[in-house]
Amino acid sequence: MAYRTVNPYTEQTIQEFAEHTDSEVEAALAKADALFRADWSKGGRELRLAILARLSDLITANRDALANTMAEEMGKPLSQGQMEADLCADIARYYADKADDILKPEPVSSDVGEGWIEYHPVGVLLAVEPWNFPIYQLIRVVAPAIALGNPVIYKHAGIVPQSAALFADLVRRAGAPEGAVTNLYISAAKVAELIGDDRVRGVALTGSEGAGSKIGARAGEMLKKSTLEMGGSDVFVVLDDADLAKAVEGGIFARLGNAGQMCTAAKRFIVQRGIADAFTQAFVGAMQAVPMGDPKNPQTLLGPMASREGLESLSRQVEEAVGYGATVLTGGKRAERTGFFYEPTVLSDVMPDNPAFYQEFFGPVALLFVADDDDAIVALANDSKFGLGGAIYSADIARARALASRIESGMVFINTPTISRPELPFGGVKRSGYGRELGDVGIKEFVNRKLVVVAGA
Ligand code: NAP
Repeated sequence: MAYRTVNPYTEQTIQEFAEHTDSEVEAALAKADALFRADWSKGGRELRLAILARLSDLITANRDALANTMAEEMGKPLSQGQMEADLCADIARYYADKADDILKPEPVSSDVGEGWIEYHPVGVLLAVEPWNFPIYQLIRVVAPAIALGNPVIYKHAGIVPQSAALFADLVRRAGAPEGAVTNLYISAAKVAELIGDDRVRGVALTGSEGAGSKIGARAGEMLKKSTLEMGGSDVFVVLDDADLAKAVEGGIFARLGNAGQMCTAAKRFIVQRGIADAFTQAFVGAMQAVPMGDPKNPQTLLGPMASREGLESLSRQVEEAVGYGATVLTGGKRAERTGFFYEPTVLSDVMPDNPAFYQEFFGPVALLFVADDDDAIVALANDSKFGLGGAIYSADIARARALASRIESGMVFINTPTISRPELPFGGVKRSGYGRELGDVGIKEFVNRKLVVVAGA
């Protein structure tokens, strides 16, 4: 049984779900494709934007139910689940309010005549999504797709089947017709088969490099456009003149939010030498003091990891890092209690010959580096196969801006951890993937930019 809710706090299996059958998958695809050919996709946008506005309200009305389900399925602390729901409501509202403006035809000047670009839907999209933000990962694809008129079929991660179903139900209750957004419990093999179907016109994946390379290759083989949002090993740079308390507070949230299971979590802390001792002491102390426990307790900041596999893989990674010479400043092992808990951990002395140097730590483990100047910071930051986000803390904004421009990543934030907002395009470079979600850029990924020219006009 591939779709299963296991409560990571109790380690108990809650519910299992059967995969959809071949005929159910075919019926879902046929409905989605029929909708694309109907007025719903091809007609005016008003009806679809009204659905998004209602979806926003419904998410807000159901924020506690959504947060509860996330806590039970993948251990996200309630307050963080509520924050996720609020962000999702904002994303639906953003596209409801802004899509008309973002998608209005754009003039193109030419000696042939009057020209313009129109934005049209392309057809059924397949979205393959991870469990770490069970609702947010879906709405990043679904909200712009509804605004445009692209029907979506999604395959969510096997460990969050209830979140997957809950979201589909909210979309339905918002008034979306059957076929607009469909949740399917399917295997990787079925995903590959669907990508090969002519009715599927694009594929969006958020997930690991392994899944990205398989799905990207399959999409390329079938001449379909794909967007890939994959892992990261984001830097969190603290310059000598940074506000120490603010940097520590931001660093804790950036590393321990969602139990460290964020693609844009701060994974490599690069601290300038002048502030290194003070930052290390304060940061390690704050890591040790973090309230860890029941995700349903409002005081909890650090919940369990989402799965036994994730916990075991992180434990092996840390053991290997230590085997190659890393120093454990705090933590370094599974917490001795029921639930998939890993102790908040800080590792230093991770050298380039340590496999950990280039790995993504998808859990509450921070790597700490010390650098002397801006050139050394940039060299260390860019010595990574990933390039997703990054943060710089400094009182000198001009210097931080110059540094931000030199870091090879899709996003850099100054004096705040990497955050997501509806209007901010999200995505990376290098092995973090390609394409963007959210903002005006994100809605134009799966779109037909149709050129129309009137000669001599
Ligand atoms: P994962 O194993 O790649 O799973 C992600 C999704 O892909 C799941 O729905 C999974 O289904 C599916 N999948 C896996 N292999 C597949 C294949 N060969 N064909 C089709 N579907 C496949 O990723 P994860 O380990 O759960 O998630 C963590 C990773 O995602 C991290 O690297 C993280 O950094 C990255 N991430 C990136 C972003 C971003 O926006 N850049 C955001 C969040 C997470 P099953 O669950 O059924 O295996």
